[in-house]
Amino acid sequence: MVSRVIPVDTFDLVIFGGTGDLARRKILPGLFRRFCAGQIPAGARVIGAARSAHNTDEYRQIVREAIEEFGGARADACDHLDDFLQMIEYVVIDARGDDGWKELADLMAGTDRIEAYYFSVAPALFGDIAKRLKKWGLADAGARIVVEKPFGRDLTTARALNKTLATYFNEDQIYRIDHYLGKETVQNLMAVRFGNMLFEPLWNSQYVDHIQITVAETVGVAGRGDYYDNAGAMRDMVQNHLMQLLCLIAMEPPARFSPDAVRDEKLKVIRALEPVEPHHIVRGQYQAEPGNEEQHPSYRTAVENPRSRTESFIALRIEISNWRWAGTPFYVRTGKRLAERSSEITVVFKDTPHNIFEEDAGRHRNVLSIHLQPNEGITLGVTIKEPGPGGMRLIDVPLDMTFAETLDADEIEHVDAYERLIMDVIRGNQTLFMRCDEVEAAWEWTDPIIEGWEARNDVPRPYDFGSTGPIAAHEMLRREKREWRQVTE
Ligand code: NAP
Repeated sequence: MVSRVIPVDTFDLVIFGGTGDLARRKILPGLFRRFCAGQIPAGARVIGAARSAHNTDEYRQIVREAIEEFGGARADACDHLDDFLQMIEYVVIDARGDDGWKELADLMAGTDRIEAYYFSVAPALFGDIAKRLKKWGLADAGARIVVEKPFGRDLTTARALNKTLATYFNEDQIYRIDHYLGKETVQNLMAVRFGNMLFEPLWNSQYVDHIQITVAETVGVAGRGDYYDNAGAMRDMVQNHLMQLLCLIAMEPPARFSPDAVRDEKLKVIRALEPVEPHHIVRGQYQAEPGNEEQHPSYRTAVENPRSRTESFIALRIEISNWRWAGTPFYVRTGKRLAERSSEITVVFKDTPHNIFEEDAGRHRNVLSIHLQPNEGITLGVTIKEPGPGGMRLIDVPLDMTFAETLDADEIEHVDAYERLIMDVIRGNQTLFMRCDEVEAAWEWTDPIIEGWEARNDVPRPYDFGSTGPIAAHEMLRREKREWRQVTE
């Protein structure tokens, strides 16, 4: 493999919640893969911090096991695990008390490395940690903090959290992570839009019939029931991940590819979102798998709340009031226990203004599909003549723009979203992180929608386990003579 990796500067990364699920599944294996790729210099340190009483050797064993379990093929193929573990330290610390802070401050003292603090803990602890970092002299101007989702549960709580963090850190030190933005294809979307002449002239309501964003999951809420039943699909997925994808699709070309230029344009999109009418919202709750209720119970059973009105599925028809998009609907949907795990953005272009191929009138449309998972890639559906004799029959074929197909697959290093984003934190690049005003604007749009269905006592519609969601979500599009794109792998 030809390496295009540029090592980052030496850093200390403290992971608050270093023993937790996210640290073990994503952050630590991701760091190891960057180490194997040669991006992390040997002098860097990764310091786990949590209340559990471990010494550094015990914690290294936890890290080893996490990497063996969750590291994937690239980690398995790398024989530098022992070297990586030498970089790992552990501090027993209580975010809410004084225990461990002096030890951490001593560990961080007297170095001129980049300092980053990853808040991989419950959001209720974000303020406690920020306050103590300041108190112990760990919040100097070069320090960065990484904040996980959920960022608030409404505008009031998000504002309060922003205000708390702003008490101790400047905005350019705060990295609000949304791992959807770290996906290769999401960045490729910007390259396709702004690096080519081809698409941008067509990227508006004159040529685009509608846009769909789907994030479909097969998993349920097991293990996260308490959190999820207080959040629901709107707060858990739409307000952050789907909103960010919508912004990248809909934004104006930024003047340059710099953090604030990109985030300014995203913010303008959020501020141009129209309130959503009740008949443009479909909420659903999944049912149990027939005959397998114990293993795959209904949503209400899974969250142990037989009267829950929280949605595990939502579909919305969204309008953006600006010159570019007025009149083009954006349909977004996300849900759990659906037929397939698939995330996709599709841009459906309008019919040609005049069809000279009478037999096929109205049948063929260009569709640009941006697949985010399980496989990343971009395809453009184009209409061509079916090869061979037999007259002028038209067929749609996908033009595959997947980099792995076009470029030499061996030369590409596929980087997980967390890997990329953590390296961006170390490099000090905030382009793919949400700014405080973006988060608040997103809640400002989301809150009235949620308040609306709460005031109407809206009850989510049941949908079958392993289906494509409530029938009403399909009807919403059919009323407008459109169809959801089939969710496929
Ligand atoms: P988790 O498994 O419950 O881990 C929480 C961590 O926080 C543990 O290491 C715990 O260790 C530590 N902790 C708890 N109380 C503490 C205290 N008072 N002082 C210091 N450490 C404390 O949670 P998680 O799933 O990793 O999630 C962490 C954050 O990431 C949350 O904000 C979550 O919403 C977000 N997130 C997680 C995922 C995911 O896939 N897991 C995805 C997206 C976002 P001790 O008990 O030993 O202190």
